Amino acid sequence: MTESVTRTPPADVAEAQAAVEAAALRVLRSGRYDWGPEVPAFEAELAAWAGVRHAVGANSGTAALKLALLALGIGPGDEVITAPNSDIATTAAISHVGATPVLVDVEPDTLNLDPRRVEAAITPRTRALLPVHLYGHPADLPALTAIAARHHLRVIEDACLALGAAVAGRPVGHWGDITAVSHAPSKHLGAAGTAGSVLTNDPDLAERARLFSGYGQPRANSYRRDLLGAGQHFLVEGLNERLDELQAAILRAKLPFVAGWLERRRAHAAAYSAGLAGLPLQLPVERPGCRHVWRNYVVRAKDRAGVQRRLAEAGIATRRLYVPPLHLQPPYARLGYGPGAFPVAEAAAEQLFCLPLSHDLTDADRDRAIETLHRAVTAA
Ligand SMILES: *Cc1c(COP(=O)(O)O)cnc(C)c1O
Repeated sequence: MTESVTRTPPADVAEAQAAVEAAALRVLRSGRYDWGPEVPAFEAELAAWAGVRHAVGANSGTAALKLALLALGIGPGDEVITAPNSDIATTAAISHVGATPVLVDVEPDTLNLDPRRVEAAITPRTRALLPVHLYGHPADLPALTAIAARHHLRVIEDACLALGAAVAGRPVGHWGDITAVSHAPSKHLGAAGTAGSVLTNDPDLAERARLFSGYGQPRANSYRRDLLGAGQHFLVEGLNERLDELQAAILRAKLPFVAGWLERRRAHAAAYSAGLAGLPLQLPVERPGCRHVWRNYVVRAKDRAGVQRRLAEAGIATRRLYVPPLHLQPPYARLGYGPGAFPVAEAAAEQLFCLPLSHDLTDADRDRAIETLHRAVTAA
């Protein structure tokens, strides 16, 4: 569209790749794959980056959610309120610690947990709210944390898509008691495999998350040579959901690039919003006072199938993410909600799809997606 569009991937993508390769080689040559220096170093660096006191490495975003729930002591008999339009990891984590997911519909603009509907779902068994920052837009954390405080509930943030997002100048991870981040390859800080993190300002929750991540034995016991001869001493029945040394080193190599990558995503999103304005599409919003980190640029079209097909024919791949809603899928039939239970989430799920967006998307490819979409919707 302009003369100055970038046609090749930005230089920092190759720079990051070189740093990742060096980091992986460093670990492979050290021969130290667990209980080494990379995991604690990554945790300190991520905590500093996110501005929280503690980060705890985990084996995935799913594991981070489970560790957050276990750290808070949430289990059988407890209810946790969350949204129906997330990755199954969110609700599965709740079920897998023995608690029950209670679903509440979302707000029409952000598709995040609707604070106006949450209080009606609170029962004497409710222990926590688990808002998901869907597609990278933060949930209404000021309203949700106020409700939680009134009802003595804990707040777990699912920031698996939203590292770097903020509300009212305060980043995600600073509002809830504890926060889960995914480092799946396609997330903002992606590993070369599976990884995740727990963030918290509470030292006791951090210690418990660590304990549950590593079999239930204090992590220090695995690092202190003088204790290695003394057997294994478990404080809780833990999991093996640790971050490994190789992924930690790779994440450390990529972390310095993330802030720049988020800015690039924001620039791509702004270009999409400017380039698509006026088309018969519902465009995503960034609410005033919110910082959206655009894991996905999600539009809604009445003739979604037709528009997606015409884009595919032009070689532009689009995706439907977090569709259909979880309550309409077989594992959650047991919750008994059924069609019509969450009209906002269900209506959005009928129309939404994601445009190409990544930190290494070129301006030229983005502009081609915009031009193709103009043709795809006017052909409808
Ligand atoms: C990716 C994701 C998860 C799970 O993270 P994994 O690292 O894939 O286990 C959880 N919640 C949301 C909203 C996600 O997008």
